[in-house]
Order: sequence, then structure tokens, then C-alpha cells
Amino acid sequence: MTYDVAVLPGDGIGPEITRAAVAVLQRAAELSGFSVRAADCPIGGAAIDQFGCPLPDDTVSACKDSAAVLLGAVGGPRWDNLPGDLRPEKGLLSIRGALGLYANLRPATVYPALRSASPLRDEILGDGIDIMVVRELTGGIYFGRRGRCEKDGEMVAFDTEEYSAHEIRRILKVAFELARGRGGRLCSVDKANVLESSRLWREIANEMAREYPDVRLTHMYVDNCAMQLVRKPNQFDTIVTGNMFGDILSDEASQITGSIGMLPSASLGEGSLGLYEPIHGSAPDIAGKDLANPIGSILSAALMLRHSLGHPDAANAVESAVRRALDGGLRTADIASAGGEVVGTARMAKSILSALQ
Ligand code: NAD
Repeated sequence: MTYDVAVLPGDGIGPEITRAAVAVLQRAAELSGFSVRAADCPIGGAAIDQFGCPLPDDTVSACKDSAAVLLGAVGGPRWDNLPGDLRPEKGLLSIRGALGLYANLRPATVYPALRSASPLRDEILGDGIDIMVVRELTGGIYFGRRGRCEKDGEMVAFDTEEYSAHEIRRILKVAFELARGRGGRLCSVDKANVLESSRLWREIANEMAREYPDVRLTHMYVDNCAMQLVRKPNQFDTIVTGNMFGDILSDEASQITGSIGMLPSASLGEGSLGLYEPIHGSAPDIAGKDLANPIGSILSAALMLRHSLGHPDAANAVESAVRRALDGGLRTADIASAGGEVVGTARMAKSILSALQ
């Protein structure tokens, strides 16, 4: 079996980290008896330089024809002064839209070897943290009606939080299924004490919970959740929430792990096609210097193996290889700690490759 994967390296450190992730992906596939054919496609600033637009049509077609998409990062100071529609970030928003990706998965895990990198105290980290934040990606206030008008002689601006029942149902389904395969606990986060859209969200969640008797559904207001994430993070297993709350909470959850370079993400839609990318940006300050941590991209490849290619064993093997490399004391500069050996992108990737079993 051969899977086609579209690789969108993008800008800055994007090419270095995706190169590392593709090598690990292909080796993990080989060890599990299948293969991955990777094809590079332009996006972001690289595409602007070459084709005059951040997302060429050929890139969209190649992604649609693939089993999954691996993205590096886009953007950089070179393109900062272009008009909005021509900026690298537009390429990213457009590819998510073109592929109909409405569910954003952001795992936040504190690796035992990296506990000291977390800003939280040891007793708060407890037995460790393993949270999956599921964020709705294409609805809510970021996509609702907006505008400005004159009212009582002054300018008024408004944005609208709007969710339809089918948008709520499809993201909750993703979350219930994920929670079922993890710790069996799902916390739905809303603001049902104030917002009507949250009250509909809660009703549908309670209704759907009957189809998932093996998942324990709880509800939490978003302000309390923001507090609980730093007070007692290991109470959470899977969190599901709307677009704006998820935007904020997933960044907060990622920060308790201590390193932006370690964290993967997945964006999923109706079918199995998904887009996988580290949560960090293109880090122009360290691009091309062999300084970037490739682990966020490598763990994104693990998510791809699990959610798009249907090979959870190969995904587990990649995650274990990352753990072994860290347990062995290797660190890139962003996660350097006393006693660890500081290595570059290529050496970290190579040691994860050789730790693959
Ligand atoms: P950034 O995530 O690129 O960098 C923030 C800091 O983290 C920098 O000091 C950087 O060196 C460091 N860092 C990031 N990834 C790292 C890694 N893998 N290893 C080691 N260190 C790492 O965020 P920024 O500086 O705000 O943005 C830079 C560019 O990236 C901007 O053009 C921005 O628009 C773009 N951006 C793109 C995405 C994306 O493609 N998904 C996301 C965020 C920002």
C-alpha cells in the first residue's frame, strides 16, 4: 500500500522541519509494511515569490488528490508589507477552507523528560499532562456577520457568534470519538450562562452523550476552564469548544507544556483527508541555521499516521521514538536544560529515526 502525501514546506524553518518529518514518516511506514510517496508543493511566501500568489491552484489540486497534507509554516518579514490577500498567511487560511477542514486537534503533552520546561510547578503537573483540545475551526464569531454602523451619533462595530446545529453536531462527533479512544472523558467548554449559541451547543452535547455511554461528558464555562488549565490541568482528558474559545484555550494549553517547538496539530474534515502542521510559525530568526526543533513537525506526522492513514501502531512508534530520543538526553536549543546535550535539527531528526522500532 502506498499513500500520497502533499508536503507544503512553506517559509523560514518550514523546509528543514518538514524534511525531518518526511524522513521519519517514510521510515515508520516502511517498518509497518507500507510506503509514503511525498510530493513538495509551494505555499506562502515561497509560492508568492515563484507564482505571485500564496496558494497556487496546482497546490490545492495536489492536496485534494492526496491522502494527507503535511505543512511546515508560512510567513516572514519579506512578505509583511504585501496587501492582505497576497500575504503568506492567506495561503494557509485558503487551504484549510478549500479542504473543508472544520476540526482542529491540538494535543498538549508534557513529556516526563521535559517537565522542567513547563512553567507550572511540579506538584501541579502531578502524574503528567495529556490533554487533547478539539476546536471548531470554520464557524462561530470569526465567520459570523460583522460590520459597523452609526448609533446615537457614534461608530459601533459588531461581530456575531453564530452556530448551526449541524456545525455543532459534527465537531462534537469528532470530540466524542476521540475521547472514546483516549481517557473516556470529554469536557465541553462554553459560556451557556450568557450566550444562546452556547445553550444550543450544550443541548446538542447532552443529546449526543446518549450515543456515547462510554464517554463521561461534563460542561465547563470558558472562564473557569482558563483558570482550571493552570490550577489542575490533569483533570482534563479531551476538551471540545467553539472557534474563539478554542483559539485561546489551545494556546494556553500549549504553553503549559513549555515549548512551542514540540507541539503538533491536525485539522480534519468530513473524510479522512487532513492537514498536519506544528503549532509554531516560520521562526525566521533561526531559519536555515540548523537550530529548529523538528519534533512538532515529526509529531504532526504521527497524527497523520493515526488520523488520515489509519496506522495507529506506526503513530505510536513515532511517538515512542521521540520519547526515547528525549529520554536519551538530546535537546534542541529551545528545550535545552542543564545536563542535556544540545543538538541541531538534523541530529535530533537522525536520532529519532534511529530510535524508531
Ligand atoms: P514563531 O512561532 O515563528 O516564533 C516564535 C519564537 O519561537 C521564535 O523565537 C522562534 O525562533 C521560536 N520557535 C518557533 N518554532 C520553533 C522551533 N521549531 N524550534 C525552535 N524554536 C522555535 O512565531 P512569530 O515569530 O510570531 O512568527 C514568525 C512568522 O511565522 C510570522 O510571519 C508569522 O505570521 C508566521 N506564523 C505562521 C504560522 C503558521 O504557518 N501556521 C503560525 C504562526 C506564525
